Amino acid sequence: MKRMDKLIQDYIHDPYFTKEKYPDPSVCEKCGVVFHNGIFEWLKDVPKDAKKIICPACRRIEDKYEGGVVYLEGEFLQKHKEEIFNLIRNVEEEEKAYRPLERIIEIKEENGKVVIKTTYEHLARRIGEAIHKAYKGDLKLNYPEGQKYVRVYWHRD
Ligand SMILES: [Zn+2]
Repeated sequence: MKRMDKLIQDYIHDPYFTKEKYPDPSVCEKCGVVFHNGIFEWLKDVPKDAKKIICPACRRIEDKYEGGVVYLEGEFLQKHKEEIFNLIRNVEEEEKAYRPLERIIEIKEENGKVVIKTTYEHLARRIGEAIHKAYKGDLKLNYPEGQKYVRVYWHRD
């Protein structure tokens, strides 16, 4: 019960997550996540009476409305890009299993930088921490005041 309360708390201020909007049970017709007993979760057996919805994560992906962004830079990145990209995808898989609304919206490369946008700030932070743990370098997190948003900067020469 504790975990559910915590998960709900995380999304309660999200304009894309207004509990009233989602009939319980319901299922996302894009990704298949189920809203059941007040929480989004991956269920093998979708309740028969589940209504069809688009979940907050899929709506954010459609609108490109990110909750966090990660900037990666430096020479090390250029030499280990594939490895680092694999790590990023692994972190997304792990987080998504436990918190189904945490997704990568897009990964872009611009001017030698890699920019990763995520649906919520939690995944952006986790990606930054995982890269920092694996490859050291410099990690900075910036939380704009009063917003559920994070900018994560990682750099290694
Ligand atoms: Zn969805």
